[in-house]
Amino acid sequence: MRALVTGGAGFIGSHLADALIRHGHRVTIIDDLSTGKLANIAHHEAEPRFQFAIETVMNETVMDRLVSECDVIFHLAAAVGVELIVSRPVEVIERCVLATDVVLHIANRYRKRVLLTSTSEIYGKNTKVPFSEDADRILGPTTKSRWSYSCSKAIDEFLALAFHKENGLPTVIVRLFNTIGPRQSGQYGMVVPRFVGAAIRDQPITVYGDGTQSRCFCHVLDVVDALVVLAERSDVAGQVFNLGNDQEITILALAERVKAITGSRSEIVKIPYSEAYEVGFEDMSRRVPDLSKIRAYIGYTPRFQLDQMIREIQEFLVARQREQAGS
Ligand code: UDP
Repeated sequence: MRALVTGGAGFIGSHLADALIRHGHRVTIIDDLSTGKLANIAHHEAEPRFQFAIETVMNETVMDRLVSECDVIFHLAAAVGVELIVSRPVEVIERCVLATDVVLHIANRYRKRVLLTSTSEIYGKNTKVPFSEDADRILGPTTKSRWSYSCSKAIDEFLALAFHKENGLPTVIVRLFNTIGPRQSGQYGMVVPRFVGAAIRDQPITVYGDGTQSRCFCHVLDVVDALVVLAERSDVAGQVFNLGNDQEITILALAERVKAITGSRSEIVKIPYSEAYEVGFEDMSRRVPDLSKIRAYIGYTPRFQLDQMIREIQEFLVARQREQAGS
């Protein structure tokens, strides 16, 4: 396959590029480096099967050429992190909806397959876990900007499904649940790199709210391997899949686990959501994927356990800290 990965210099996109190359495919990435980093793809510099364009997906001339040259598009470029969603909602909405519109129109022009990555935010504050792909979406009011991300990604999904229905375009949607691993930045609010980063510096680990909210964390390698397999399949067009890990942990227990694994002397402190994000911020209390559909289609089972993921993130952050201290 000749794969085009939008957002390919980001955390998940760069691991996807690695996986595609490992599986013997050719990869072109397009990334505007808004949250992606050149350091994430620097190791492919000399790889003949790898190319990259530092450009926005909204540049239709560049996208037209890149799409015409590929067999499949992995559309990952989007805004990341709850902090960004709350603080820069215009950018977040436009970046999701306008970019996906460009990708789908050009893909349709050349009749190329599209794998769109979506999000577990789609389910909003539905409390009936685990979430199956056809579960209802329960959202708060438009005055709370957190919900704009769920709605923007839902428009992306509607559009991808509409292109499939009306034009027979082979599109597949994959809803990613909390994904973690090396290269993820805590800068945009992601809890695990933040906790591990604080722990290795013996700084306070800040739990938002009372810490009883829970999440399921999946290793990025489990995620990208499944994305490659889904893109290779011809019988998944027009389908939606959950992808993640279904082992649940509360955020307070996560803080304790991180502290124990890293041997940190950090204090665990609780701060209210209003201080962490904004007044009236609504969190999801639980978020667990029902993985039966993806298991049935591709035999997916996550391989990595949380403790190993925490150790790998610790190694990555310690190495980065050393590099920064040396430079
Ligand atoms: N969280 C926290 N401390 C942090 C960052 C996040 O307690 O420094 C909490 C956050 O409120 C949420 C959970 O951890 O309940 C997961 O947050 P993240 O932003 O990683 O993912 P999402 O909310 O999108 O699941």
